[in-house]
Amino acid sequence: MQYFVRLGNDKVDPILHKEAQMSMKSKLLCWLAGSVVLACLFPSVVLAEGIKPKTREFFETRGEIVWEVPIEEKWIALTFDDGPDPVYTPQIAALLKQYGARATFFVTGDRASRYPETVRMLAEAGHELGNHTFRHIYFRSGTSERVIDEEIRKAKEAIEATGISVTAPWFRPPGGYYSEKIVEIAKRYGYTVVLWSWHQDTKDWRRPGVDRIAGKVLRNARNGDIVLLHDHGDGAGQTTEALKRILPELQARGYRFVTVSELVAKRKQPNANEAGKPASATDAAARPGKSLKRSNAAFHSPYSVVIDPLRNRLTVYRDGQKFKQYPIALGKPETPTPVGDWRIVNKYKNWGSGFGTRWLGLNVPWGTYGIHGTNRPHSIGRDASHGCVRMLNAHVEELYNYLPIGTSVTILGHPLGEPHQSPRDLAKGDSGADVMLIQSRLRSAGYFKGACTGKFDAKTEYALRKFEQDNGLPVDGVMNAHDYVAMGLVD
Ligand SMILES: [Zn+2]
Repeated sequence: MQYFVRLGNDKVDPILHKEAQMSMKSKLLCWLAGSVVLACLFPSVVLAEGIKPKTREFFETRGEIVWEVPIEEKWIALTFDDGPDPVYTPQIAALLKQYGARATFFVTGDRASRYPETVRMLAEAGHELGNHTFRHIYFRSGTSERVIDEEIRKAKEAIEATGISVTAPWFRPPGGYYSEKIVEIAKRYGYTVVLWSWHQDTKDWRRPGVDRIAGKVLRNARNGDIVLLHDHGDGAGQTTEALKRILPELQARGYRFVTVSELVAKRKQPNANEAGKPASATDAAARPGKSLKRSNAAFHSPYSVVIDPLRNRLTVYRDGQKFKQYPIALGKPETPTPVGDWRIVNKYKNWGSGFGTRWLGLNVPWGTYGIHGTNRPHSIGRDASHGCVRMLNAHVEELYNYLPIGTSVTILGHPLGEPHQSPRDLAKGDSGADVMLIQSRLRSAGYFKGACTGKFDAKTEYALRKFEQDNGLPVDGVMNAHDYVAMGLVD
């Protein structure tokens, strides 16, 4: 019965969904438990109030917001906000041209429609035009969905109305305000949110002086930086002057100035060990000058993967249609496969012994989990692994070839395990979806203030002890049968 299905997901197998519904009535509690985990894991599913805002790490690992791009090449993306400006934007464009630099301009829709010829001039010079809302509105936490949607949509329309052929798939919220709501609405219009390197916020709009602006950028310059500057507003004159120092100095140090799309396309694969080479998921899409759509492929995979532990089966969907299916092995009950909604975050060839020929890593916060091959094909179809998804080498090699980094991977199931099993006893040092569920429960009840990481740490133990004390249970800081009952997770 234990199955929950991603809410609002149109890609889930309808058969599974039906089963999930039928099985649910037997044990509503478990469904609720699953929902709590959903709320914790998947912020797009609005189930509980007061959930802590998601961190940079959350959005960054999902590829939903870009702050900077760790790469080996000496490439830097200069970005200019709030324009276009009839005076400063052309001056800045002339400087960029002098140094063979391309940049990204986050324009407001309002100004783009007032200065369409400046927008066209930028596009023709090879710069990118990103969206910075229509009226430069701050999307603070109370801002309605309607306002966010309208601001992004109207700016997109205004930029397109200037007649430029390609607009960048990047949205930058004014003031750097970000949230799940903003990310989701931006996605509707094909945008990924782009902020800036924290060490490259020049605050040029405050007119700190040319020395300060140039000094900030030059002192902190690193590969893959996204630098925040403004081509419109009080400080734009100082910014223009500062560029006269920044551009020659960084060029002399060997830096190349590229657009955000070029930078993102160059994204480095995590290092593989000496046994293998780093994957080339984005290599094909890594050449500057290729279309913006393709450079953004890492963020918008046409594929999604659903893993069904009941049938030991992995199904790949392409554009929402069932595409391919493979038999798999999953974790043993004592080392369960992490139930939840994840993404592929790295890919390796011949990563190490025990992983077969290919490895596709998932962004599970409490451990290293992935989809990999095996040199013991007889284990396929059974629950045999230490929590990873194991498949035949020939099959994982196929997946490796066509699934890009960023592809979503949904592992169905219930965090507390299969119905005939008692939930695991949990203590400090344990980790898993069940730990995440307990943390979520303790937090709702006011005992736990930390993040739901799935790691049973000292804070979790402390919270559990307080819960046990208040509920007249043995105060041992270990999650066992009576704790599960007291939390309403089993009956
Ligand atoms: Zn701005």
